Amino acid sequence: MITRHRLRWRIQHWLEARLPGLLTCAQFQEMVDAYVDDELGPVVRATVDFHMKTCPICQRYVIAYGKVRDFAADTLSAEEAEALDVVPEGLVTAILAARGVGGARGGGPNS
Ligand SMILES: [Zn+2]
Repeated sequence: MITRHRLRWRIQHWLEARLPGLLTCAQFQEMVDAYVDDELGPVVRATVDFHMKTCPICQRYVIAYGKVRDFAADTLSAEEAEALDVVPEGLVTAILAARGVGGARGGGPNS
């Protein structure tokens, strides 16, 4: 039996695939930093707000994202925070590969 949560998620993704102007979760997550910092223009903001209202996965993602940002702000020194701005691309690629993002094992909310 399909849960209400799962049905809502399926409807959201069915709509994303068929209606232009709606965001996918991946597109949403690319903009989450600007969304959290309230740096989006009104049209994009409305599109992102709609995705947030209809996607429980991204709602949880934004909550977790905010917690991580708050934790980092509370615990990192200025030098450590600056060092995170220059994380080597190879390290990011290795972490994503280990998690299966973009690989054969899948991963993330869109898989
Ligand atoms: Zn989403």
